[in-house]
Amino acid sequence: MYTALQQDHQQINDLLTVVKERALTYLHQLDTIPNNRPEPKLDPPLLGEDGAGTMAALDHFYQHFADTLVASSGPRYWGFVTGGTTPAAIAGDWLTTVFDQNTQTLSGPGDVSAHLEQQTIALLLQLLGLPDTFNGGFVTGATMSNFTCLAVGRQWAGMTKGNDTARDGIQIPIKVFSATPHSSAVKALAMLGLGSNNIIPVKTMEGSREAMDINDLHTQLLLHADHPTIVISSGGTVNSVDFDDMQAIAALRETVPFYWHIDAAFGGFAACSAQYAHLLKGWEGADSIAVDCHKWMNVPYDSAVYLVKRVHARLQVQTFQNGNAPYLGNPDDQFSYLNFGPENSRRFRALAAWFSLIAYGKNGFRWMVDNSIAMAQLFGQRITAETDFVLAAPIRLNVVCFTPKEETGREERIKAVLAALNTSGRVFMTPSRYKGIPCIRAAFVNWRTSAADIDIAIGELLERPVLSTRQQDKQ
Ligand SMILES: *Cc1c(COP(=O)(O)O)cnc(C)c1O
Repeated sequence: MYTALQQDHQQINDLLTVVKERALTYLHQLDTIPNNRPEPKLDPPLLGEDGAGTMAALDHFYQHFADTLVASSGPRYWGFVTGGTTPAAIAGDWLTTVFDQNTQTLSGPGDVSAHLEQQTIALLLQLLGLPDTFNGGFVTGATMSNFTCLAVGRQWAGMTKGNDTARDGIQIPIKVFSATPHSSAVKALAMLGLGSNNIIPVKTMEGSREAMDINDLHTQLLLHADHPTIVISSGGTVNSVDFDDMQAIAALRETVPFYWHIDAAFGGFAACSAQYAHLLKGWEGADSIAVDCHKWMNVPYDSAVYLVKRVHARLQVQTFQNGNAPYLGNPDDQFSYLNFGPENSRRFRALAAWFSLIAYGKNGFRWMVDNSIAMAQLFGQRITAETDFVLAAPIRLNVVCFTPKEETGREERIKAVLAALNTSGRVFMTPSRYKGIPCIRAAFVNWRTSAADIDIAIGELLERPVLSTRQQDKQ
């Protein structure tokens, strides 16, 4: 055996002990590790002829990289929709690597990891209040989940006109409708050959809404009734976390045929909350749903699920079957993720989610979701009461968009405030734009976030001299 490998092999106890200690130090300090750091100056890498061994690699990593990483899994990293990692999820994720299974078939030799993945999907469906008429699997993120679901939609659309798009390519026009699609759904259309320019925009409802106007959807569907259609609806838009009216869309589908996909990447977890589950009422009628686990479920990257109605299993296998495997008689009989999703070899990705579901149960996730919403509301109230910012969008769930009261020079001020805030490293937020209004956006999904973190953020906001226009006038 090669020397460094042999040494590592013999030292595995010591190695993992060091890793564990390093990990614990990080986790215990997560509260105070900066959310933003200057970009490191890294020497161009030079691959040695001889390996240095893992202990040396660890030293090198800690010397040069570890202190440049930001606390994105900490309690005040509110950019994008960034989840953290619960203890259960860390345990599951570590073991995923240790077991190193290639999760594919239910009937494969020796490996039961696909069974556990199926069980995780079943548990998730219960958590989200969805029926077991859905089957599903894990992919790297909601982008791939949207891709997988929309690929089934494409096959469905083609087959309504006898066009097997998986085998023969897209031979007929397929129309796609959406009001406020996430950029990743648009990207999925590009990857699927449906074309990112080919979304037919549906009007949003009046006022501050980002949800689709169902009457307009109806009109548009009738206008394009000659073509098979796919509707992408939002189970939580990124700025105001608005939800399409799922019941109305379900009712519409009784009269006009279309493939119905819901992007519920983070908003799907509203289903955990007694108070907010109604936002998703009717979503069980969809053909497919995309849900991220590495956001509100607080599982490490990369983890998301696609949920596709079992009645579409044949379409799904047509789309994703590997090589020349024959079309399966009954896809449920010889179920394999190999023929069911975009990837062939896959890690034991479900394990972190499985650990989390078993460890925290329905009430654990209900608490996580309700806590995030409470933190968003608290932050919004305090911004309105104590700063000279106003809300740019209603706080429907767990995202706060705010903007300077003073309209002139908004863009510049936002830039300056964000630069100052993010440089502080104590809190991290991102710029956004809601209905044309430039704003600062904060998304709450991390289980660690508490009222003390809101205190810190408000304190930071108030400390910024650039915050107050009155102060600026005086200068
Ligand atoms: C984050 C997000 C996505 C993309 O998810 P990734 O996990 O980044 O691939 C899709 N849709 C919505 C609504 C999102 O918030």
